[in-house]
Amino acid sequence: MASLFDTHAHLDHDSFESDRDDVIRRAHEAGVVTMIAMGVDVASSQAAIALAGKNPGIYAAVGIQPNYCGQAQAADWDRVLELCVQPGVVAIGETGLDRYWDHSPFDVQQDYFDRHLRLAQERDLPFVVHTRECDADVLDMLRAARNHGELRGVMHSFTSTEETAGECVALGLHLSFAGMVTFTKSAELRRVAASLPADRILLESDSPYLSPHPLRGKRNEPANVVHTARVLAEARGVPLEDFAAQTTANARRLFRLC
Ligand SMILES: [Zn+2]
Repeated sequence: MASLFDTHAHLDHDSFESDRDDVIRRAHEAGVVTMIAMGVDVASSQAAIALAGKNPGIYAAVGIQPNYCGQAQAADWDRVLELCVQPGVVAIGETGLDRYWDHSPFDVQQDYFDRHLRLAQERDLPFVVHTRECDADVLDMLRAARNHGELRGVMHSFTSTEETAGECVALGLHLSFAGMVTFTKSAELRRVAASLPADRILLESDSPYLSPHPLRGKRNEPANVVHTARVLAEARGVPLEDFAAQTTANARRLFRLC
């Protein structure tokens, strides 16, 4: 089968501490040969770069996730600026807005989201957006960013409506699906995924979170994106092989790994 591309994995996460090399090996065995290790703060961004440095097929995204920006110091942003030009870095993120956890004041989240979007545009790197209970706010900020440059990025772990999906596509963005789309109750989300243009859809594990059916509730790992790919291919009515090739080509183009 064509190889798979996991566009969003927290490979530095503590839960992989004892068996990270096995996790990466199992991904390769499952055909998941390319992964993006996500940063959520300075330490994890550095860890993502280190993982990219020693594992072929792993690349890094650097940034401060909305739930972590409340604790960020001024020097942390300076570090992000230094890290984003390191070898192996292919994206800025994750960034975005989150009203669900409420770990960071909302105006601080907006300030950091704006900084990440501007940095991505300045460096000509794609950005990775996390959004939870914030669709309208995120779309407002993306539209504002669209006014000062092209938008190249991905809405990660997309779980929203067809209308929001359409707006994101119109803004030039990609949409990435994680394990949630495989759950029995997610018929509507599968319908949204089925309606997207083929060149805008991406796959992700969001490891160690969001294990797909039938592994729900267990620690997730990149090898499991195979389950998500199968469900999405079926929803879209295309052979798994074609869907794997398409999503991998989409990711390689977005992250400029062609
Ligand atoms: Zn994430």
